[in-house]
Amino acid sequence: MQIKKVAVLGAGIMGAGIAQVLALGGFKVILRDLQMALVRDGLHTIDHNLNKMLDKGLIEERQKNDALSLIHGATDLAELRDVDLVIEAVVENMAVKKQIFAELDHLCPKHTILATNTSSLSITEIASATRRPEKILGMHFFNPVTAMQLVEIVKGLDTDQTSVELAGEFIKKIGKHPVLVQKESPGFIVNRIMASCINEAIFIYGEGLAQKEDIDTAMKLGAGMAFGPLEVADFIGLDVLYALLLVFYEEFRDPKYRPHYLLSTMIRAGYWGQKSGRGFYKYHHE
Ligand code: NAD
Repeated sequence: MQIKKVAVLGAGIMGAGIAQVLALGGFKVILRDLQMALVRDGLHTIDHNLNKMLDKGLIEERQKNDALSLIHGATDLAELRDVDLVIEAVVENMAVKKQIFAELDHLCPKHTILATNTSSLSITEIASATRRPEKILGMHFFNPVTAMQLVEIVKGLDTDQTSVELAGEFIKKIGKHPVLVQKESPGFIVNRIMASCINEAIFIYGEGLAQKEDIDTAMKLGAGMAFGPLEVADFIGLDVLYALLLVFYEEFRDPKYRPHYLLSTMIRAGYWGQKSGRGFYKYHHE
């Protein structure tokens, strides 16, 4: 089987980025959201990003136009009836994702691979809503999709080798780098390591071992990190980080994932990171 036609569900931050990368890779894409206004927002984001690439000389006018002509906006799920691959990037909610996967399972041809971009939900549980668990897998892109090279391909309990191989080949064709996560597990590789590292930095800060600037500088100059862990915490959002750590804590039942109390205290104060203007650092919103 060759993947030719792809659908992306959800035209938000991730869905728009994924659709853009696929179209630049020469694939026909259906970008589907619940309302046409949301689809148009996604298409507008893509147009804006392509213009930025054009200005920087990363692409030519023709490539931009070709990419845009390959993306077709839709609200009707029935338009997905002949796609070879679906990449789902809707809200992070198990009930919503299961409902969508059940509908896709009825609608799409038998060969269609149904992938989810979930960051924290169980691939196996999503697959349980379908009659094709061997064709369900995680395809975890990183934000911003256009800049980040990595895609984690995640196997659920019943995902078969053929689907994993097809997914890996597809990711290479769109110019990204796949890594295989052989068993599903909360946070896969990157988020599990990153969240644990950031939490440890918060422990070090909370214990009064060092100033926040010195903790970030230490990890940048001493461990080669591009950004300090507390800077990354502010970028991700302290509420998002806290929720992620709680998923690890509850799923693994392992106290090593307990969030430092300072994190919940800061969230209660409204310090959510860059998006609220204050986290470990202060930000000025225009
Ligand atoms: P978002 O809120 O920006 O976009 C979600 C979109 O999905 C919205 O436009 C919403 O209208 C749409 N939607 C909801 N229900 C739908 C349905 N039934 N059919 C079609 N569209 C529907 O969210 P996001 O940040 O793009 O995240 C999407 C997924 O990607 C989540 O599973 C998230 O965990 C995952 N993810 C996010 C990031 C990130 O940094 N934002 C990184 C990796 C993975």
